[in-house]
Amino acid sequence: MADFSKHKFGTKAIHAGADPDPSTGAIMTPIFQTSTYVQESPGTNKGYGYARGKNPTREALQKNIAALENGKHCVCFSSGMGATDAVIKMLRPGDEVITGDDLYGGSYRMFTKIYENFGIKFHFINLTDAENIKKYINANTKLLWVETPTNPTMQIIDIAACATIAKANNILLAVDNTFASPYLQNPLALGADIVMHSVTKYLGGHSDVVMGALITNDDKIHEQLYFILNSCGANPGPMDCFLVMRGIKTLHLRMERHCFNGRKVAEFLKTHPKIEKIYWPGFTDHPNHEIAKKQMRDFGGMISIVLKGASLDATFKIASSFKVFSLAESLGGVESLINHPATMTHASIPKPERDKAGVVENLLRLSVGVEDVEDLIEDLKQALA
Ligand SMILES: *Cc1c(COP(=O)(O)O)cnc(C)c1O
Repeated sequence: MADFSKHKFGTKAIHAGADPDPSTGAIMTPIFQTSTYVQESPGTNKGYGYARGKNPTREALQKNIAALENGKHCVCFSSGMGATDAVIKMLRPGDEVITGDDLYGGSYRMFTKIYENFGIKFHFINLTDAENIKKYINANTKLLWVETPTNPTMQIIDIAACATIAKANNILLAVDNTFASPYLQNPLALGADIVMHSVTKYLGGHSDVVMGALITNDDKIHEQLYFILNSCGANPGPMDCFLVMRGIKTLHLRMERHCFNGRKVAEFLKTHPKIEKIYWPGFTDHPNHEIAKKQMRDFGGMISIVLKGASLDATFKIASSFKVFSLAESLGGVESLINHPATMTHASIPKPERDKAGVVENLLRLSVGVEDVEDLIEDLKQALA
């Protein structure tokens, strides 16, 4: 296996884990579409027994994603939720988790509707002031689950400050790095124990795969996570692994353009008369801008806007009148998407809690794609008109 650990991000994205196939020299990792592997005699095989546990296409992708987070290990899952599920399965009844109050809707749903039934307690708190965490720590606290930037109000949580508190109290810190992608932010370097990605988003990048990943530097945590993958079976298929490897080869190019377009769109919307509020961490007046500048390389293409005085009907009308942006859940693909969190991605969060988190009915979330930005701004102009 060629070593790309000393190379820069784009070189790693293209080459890490992607050695030519030893049997043919094929430059692209083959799709090992197989469920089992022939054994020479019982127990003697080439390192592969059954494909829920190991698949060479998946292994190549795992090496690649680990390299992008400067991590030692990566385990891929059939979805981001499958990856999150594996982290929670490291816990026991009676354990407590501290997490944010502005969380991906699916994570909130899993924590409250599935794992509270198994006797795990979750505290959903404001993490923008990391000191807040200390109030909720007790002997049962085992995990701090942080998402930053948050979805959809783009709060920035100070990962290094969280890591200091987690370490001092012997708590695992896991960071959902989906919104930033490994191009913008590397939580392991800031002290996180586990990084989670919904690979579905920026890593895959083409809105054609659902997948998740967990990255860690800790051998014991890795062993546990791999054991959970193999035992519980949320493994991704080899074709999907191939598609993601192909997607990642342009991650650095796509992210550069997402950031460039994101800035232009955010600047256009900031002064638009129909916009009451805009959430984008690149603005110097964003409340967490300094932390964003410290822990992120750039500010990305995720923007949320609150429409001035718009009713739910008026908000729906605007959301439905785009021609280049598509109205859809998800984010991080090459195409621009618009989403109405209150009825789409965050519908599983009760209204009082949504309102408290700022996910109001006249809020729209944009995933700015990599199209020509002039066309995106024209589209916003006509839809808002
Ligand atoms: C999409 C998403 C998830 C869930 O990932 P899936 O691949 O859809 O299961 C988790 N966290 C964040 C921030 C997401 O955007």
